[in-house]
Amino acid sequence: MINIQGITKSFGNLQVLKGIDLHIGKGEIVSIVGPSGAGKTTLLQIIGTLDRPDSGSVTVDGINVSGLSTNKLSDFRNRHIGFVFQFHQLLPEFTALENIMIPAFIAGKGRSEAKARAEELLQFLGLADRANHKPNELSGGEKQRVAVARALVNEPAVILADEPSGSLDTKNKAELHQLFFDLRDKFGQTFVIVTHDEQLAAITDRTIHMKDGLLMPESTITSPNDPTTTTV
Ligand code: ATP
Repeated sequence: MINIQGITKSFGNLQVLKGIDLHIGKGEIVSIVGPSGAGKTTLLQIIGTLDRPDSGSVTVDGINVSGLSTNKLSDFRNRHIGFVFQFHQLLPEFTALENIMIPAFIAGKGRSEAKARAEELLQFLGLADRANHKPNELSGGEKQRVAVARALVNEPAVILADEPSGSLDTKNKAELHQLFFDLRDKFGQTFVIVTHDEQLAAITDRTIHMKDGLLMPESTITSPNDPTTTTV
């Protein structure tokens, strides 16, 4: 599902990624952990085509994204990738339902299709009765679940999450983490989650350890159910 080969990335004189090879299989839930500045977010942003590597290749959902021209990247992101960030980044003037529908409009879906999909997701997330609430009328956990629904509205194959539970209390954290597994089981998405949360990392299918722009020895670079699995 995600194939990364020989990725390097520098910002000025600082080499942030020093040659990353990684394979993530369809439907895997993978966490990326490591100290601050290790390059976790940079790697996630490159997988999500929000940034480009200096060298190496990235294939996501069968598409060689390294080869996509800049004007094709936003369309690729809209169709194939859902993003969840630490802070929900919902638009305050729109209701929960409308926030979820917006990426569907951007992807060219009609109003009735977008609404039906958003309602289905709200139902699945147990938020049907919050559909017409604006973000300031929702709890922190509800806002983050709406943000997850927004990420899912275009049925992306991959969800990339950067500290998704970083702003939540213990109960909402546990609910959000469970939700990732429920979503994978229902919709089959692949999740890549950057986190400092050890409890979340412990329950993911696989944990990738990063330090100083490299994957650490305890990380497997290929999916465990892949016969070519190796440990670096
Ligand atoms: P954290 O856990 O603190 O979020 P991280 O492992 O996600 O850290 P990154 O955000 O990938 O680390 O950043 C890695 C390094 O690259 C840091 O030293 C950061 O300051 C630097 N960096 C990231 N983005 C940029 C940028 N756009 N311009 C310059 N330096 C950057």
